Amino acid sequence: MPQRICLLGSTGSIGTSTLDVVRRRPDLFQIASLVAGSNIDLLASQIVEFRPAFAVIANEADIPKLTAKLTELGLNRSDWPELAAGAEARVTSATDAGTDFVMSAIVGVAGLEATYRAVCLGKRIGLANKEVMVAGGELVTSAAREHGCEIIPVDSEHNGAHQCLRAGRRNEVLRLILTASGGPFRETPASEFENITPAQALKHPTWVMGQRITIDSATLMNKGFEVIEACWLFDFQPKEVDVVVHPQSTVHAMVEFNDGSIIAQVCATDMRMPIQYALTYPERLEAPVPRYGWTEARTWQFYPPDPAKFRLLQLSYDALHAGGSATCTLNAADEIAVEAFLRGEISFASIAAVVEDTLNAVPVRQTKSVEQILDVDRQSRDRAREFAAKRQRNLMHV
Ligand code: NAD
Ligand code: MG
Repeated sequence: MPQRICLLGSTGSIGTSTLDVVRRRPDLFQIASLVAGSNIDLLASQIVEFRPAFAVIANEADIPKLTAKLTELGLNRSDWPELAAGAEARVTSATDAGTDFVMSAIVGVAGLEATYRAVCLGKRIGLANKEVMVAGGELVTSAAREHGCEIIPVDSEHNGAHQCLRAGRRNEVLRLILTASGGPFRETPASEFENITPAQALKHPTWVMGQRITIDSATLMNKGFEVIEACWLFDFQPKEVDVVVHPQSTVHAMVEFNDGSIIAQVCATDMRMPIQYALTYPERLEAPVPRYGWTEARTWQFYPPDPAKFRLLQLSYDALHAGGSATCTLNAADEIAVEAFLRGEISFASIAAVVEDTLNAVPVRQTKSVEQILDVDRQSRDRAREFAAKRQRNLMHV
């Protein structure tokens, strides 16, 4: 019987790649529910193709638009899925008895609750939505332990690490090395960061992804989030996780063992590989990704990141050490700062400054529930908005 999948974030970059994997193997995979934000037209065409039992959007007000689109596409009303909107409906789709596997690919903290509730039911999870671990790592991983839930990472570095870790025992591992492309500004002097435009920052050198993660890759916030994600997923201490810049993005992660051996995972930059791995683990199947050829000479570079230039990487380690809600605040502040940058309100350099100001202003708390995490998230966003507004005035003066 095919695995029945709830796809959280179906219209995004990971969501559409997941559907491409599913489309090729209807014998193995079936879509039970599609959950999206506001891209109603794309969701409607996905409903027509994949015929889920349940479809969820972010806002109730968009339901008439969705029904109109389904009618326009000629889908009989008797074939429509159950339609719903909002956070509660996201949880219902992820926890439904008809769901075996939850692909968590919403961007931001909006994906936390549905993922957490599915973990509590012991559903199998493919985790792309790294903000789930950044904001709620302790809560989610302790629930996974308690309920025997397997979380398979989809983020390419963590997926690579998951593969490397199969080469030995956990007590033989010395450290994990995550690679970073370094983003579009790895050669740009920090003095020019003030003038970087959103269009420049949205051009990632090696990956095509959603807007938030693309900007986070340019600031290296994404790598900081990945260090946090790795500590929770694999139970590592922050000092056991290193970052190395590797502009070719071909080696995704490396694991160093106690005998000095380093196992690396190498793959073309195509997310369908880690997505399919998560869906079929522990089996491996043919994947629709480009093969890595060895008929021409190749150069792989590795060098340490510049911590002074990419401040958000260090702030991520600091937030991990602070513990409690600090990493939730880190994510919330970055989400607000990135939005403000994309709207042209603050400079690229100010993203890190807004995050740092917010981390300094919001007290660290112990968070024991989703509600408490979302409360810190709201409080941190409010403070980040204030700091972004202050930076906006400064920007207008220069
Ligand atoms: P994206 O912006 O392309 O897609 C995000 C999806 O989330 C969309 O379907 C959107 O409709 C949905 N969404 C947003 N807000 C929502 C809400 N309130 N309710 C319901 N749905 C909502 O992002 P992406 O690049 O696909 O990334 C998704 C997640 O995966 C992120 O956490 C990102 O960090 C992570 N990730 C992505 C990649 C990649 O290659 N794209 C790689 C590693 C990790
Ligand atoms: Mg990654």
